[in-house]
Amino acid sequence: MGDFPKFQKRVKAFLNGTFTPEDEIEFKRLFCSDCNFFKPGEDEELCCSCFLILKKLVTGGHITLKEISDALKK
Ligand code: SF4
Repeated sequence: MGDFPKFQKRVKAFLNGTFTPEDEIEFKRLFCSDCNFFKPGEDEELCCSCFLILKKLVTGGHITLKEISDALKK
């Protein structure tokens, strides 16, 4: 599953349509779960610039979650 096991587990719910990028909390948990600074339920509204860049790229349609997931498996 590579270096981002929690991302790969959570991304399945997005790829099958259970969640969308508009679901703010689940979207944050998707990208932050593998981060050492992430504590579920605690300060989840705080965002680093890396997260914000990824969010902009995905929600802007520049890169898909499937492309990210596939790239991380290589
Ligand atoms: S916003 Fe950035 S620093 Fe914070 S948990 Fe997510 S990836 Fe980690």
